[in-house]
Amino acid sequence: MTTVGQTSVTCAVCGRESRQRAVRGGGPAGPPDLDLRPGETTRSTMAYWLQQCPTCGYAAPRLDEATPAAAAVVAGGPYRALLAETSYPPLARRFLCRAMILEETGELHAAAEATLQAAWVADDMRKPDLAREWRLTAVALFRQGPAPDLEQQVRIVDILRRAGDFGAAAAQASALERGHLPEPVDRVVAFERKLIAAGDARAYSVASALPPPAARPHASQRGPATGLPLMRPVSGGGLFAVLRRLFRRR
Ligand SMILES: [Zn+2]
Repeated sequence: MTTVGQTSVTCAVCGRESRQRAVRGGGPAGPPDLDLRPGETTRSTMAYWLQQCPTCGYAAPRLDEATPAAAAVVAGGPYRALLAETSYPPLARRFLCRAMILEETGELHAAAEATLQAAWVADDMRKPDLAREWRLTAVALFRQGPAPDLEQQVRIVDILRRAGDFGAAAAQASALERGHLPEPVDRVVAFERKLIAAGDARAYSVASALPPPAARPHASQRGPATGLPLMRPVSGGGLFAVLRRLFRRR
């Protein structure tokens, strides 16, 4: 069960105290979208993922922690201008503020994640132009940072497709297909291929990319050459971890 509580937090940038909401617990987790937007119930808790100081505008998972470099970004002109950008939905602006701090302090992949989260807010607010713009910015940030691993490269296909940039999505899929794609990642790329060919920019869950249980040979019939252990180990909540869990369940 998910509960929302209030807590008093002192901002590490400006020293002012504010009331911030925090979400605790969680319900059953449905499969995420192909771009790893969480399924319910986490999906509905985006308003609690970041705190934002009402005085200085600092945005972070915890306002009581800030590096000097982050504080300098918050004081800077571009950050003040972003805070004043009233044409953006406030929750999206909060994620973009976080993205700016992360980008300016060299955390480019984390900045890409925060920018993608702003795009999810734009989806919910039915702002397709902003969602598209922020998806493309997220892809640029992923590519500016350290070379994205295979998992992120598969995600980039989906982010480009969701942005409606089918040509770039197809090029990214082709680049992936030139290498060895372990199952079930190959199924995800093939599924993206079908969506790209159909000009479909809608959201799909990771589960939609996998075949129905009856159509899949039993896992024990697979040799080690195509088995799951070939996949690169990734952190717990990533795309491949989700795929492995779903695939094993079938
Ligand atoms: Zn503050």
